[in-house]
Amino acid sequence: MPLPQADFRSIKQRIPIDGVLARYGVKLRSVGPHTLCGPCPLPTHTSRHSHESFSVNLARQVWSCHSASCIAARHGRLGGHVIDLVAILESCSLRQAGIRLQDWFGWSVLPSLGAPLPPVAVESSDAQPNRPLGFALQGIDTRHPYLTQRGISSATAHRFGVGIYHGAGFLTGRCVIPIRDEQSRLVAYAGRAVDGQEPKYRFPAGFRKSQVLFNLDRASQTDGPNVIVVEGFFDALKVHQAGHPGVVALMGASFSQRQSELLLSHFASVTLMLDGDQAGRHAAEVMAKWLRPKVRVHQVELPTRVQPDQLSSAEISVLVGPPNRTS
Ligand SMILES: [Zn+2]
Repeated sequence: MPLPQADFRSIKQRIPIDGVLARYGVKLRSVGPHTLCGPCPLPTHTSRHSHESFSVNLARQVWSCHSASCIAARHGRLGGHVIDLVAILESCSLRQAGIRLQDWFGWSVLPSLGAPLPPVAVESSDAQPNRPLGFALQGIDTRHPYLTQRGISSATAHRFGVGIYHGAGFLTGRCVIPIRDEQSRLVAYAGRAVDGQEPKYRFPAGFRKSQVLFNLDRASQTDGPNVIVVEGFFDALKVHQAGHPGVVALMGASFSQRQSELLLSHFASVTLMLDGDQAGRHAAEVMAKWLRPKVRVHQVELPTRVQPDQLSSAEISVLVGPPNRTS
């Protein structure tokens, strides 16, 4: 079943191309009022000579790469829109790219260019719950130095089942993070690159982030009415490690209808601790406005460019209150 044309059009118009590139960790520099330029992030790019061949026009929401070999590998196309971009980066179909974008930004709380877009509730026709995976990866190295570098103790890694996967498949060599639904059923693994590879995160095909809150199964077992909400997996691991087991991660700066229902059905009080960047602050504002009529909301504002996984346990406890060591 193809995505309706209207959805494609709305994705192209509403989802900011710079927000998508930021998700992939692509850094470009501004070379004009609406133009960004930099090294090409596409897997079709093999030339080592063209350093600044990739450009983005923010006003028109389009991208292009002028390297001849890159164009040839893309069957002669100079560039495209945001759906083409994700299809090439993820080696998937346009339909899959559209669904992925809808899932990531479906209820977009990312700031748009200039005037902020109002949060848009796009009821995705594909918003079904994730199915249990039916298998578990074996041989995950929870003592890998990558975890130490990120400040994750081996006890925490072991508890969450997080570590480097050396087996075969699309997660090989990545740091894998098991994701469970609210009933504690394994529904996916996130695979984070540990060597600067793109994309930074990989997920199994068909996995819908918008339908889960990472660590909700554990957080809902803790005493007390409050939950701390962070963006990333490692933020959640660090907050847990600091003695605050009541923590869930959105897995990005988007907040969906389903995630809101999950929060409201388990907690009477929410502490928002999103990243100290524009996307995080904007998301926290939108979430606070949405949640405040229903639950107690406390907002923790982090310093600019700081995210929770960069903080020590002591710093986290200063921001969210004394640790709860009971679970
Ligand atoms: Zn290129």
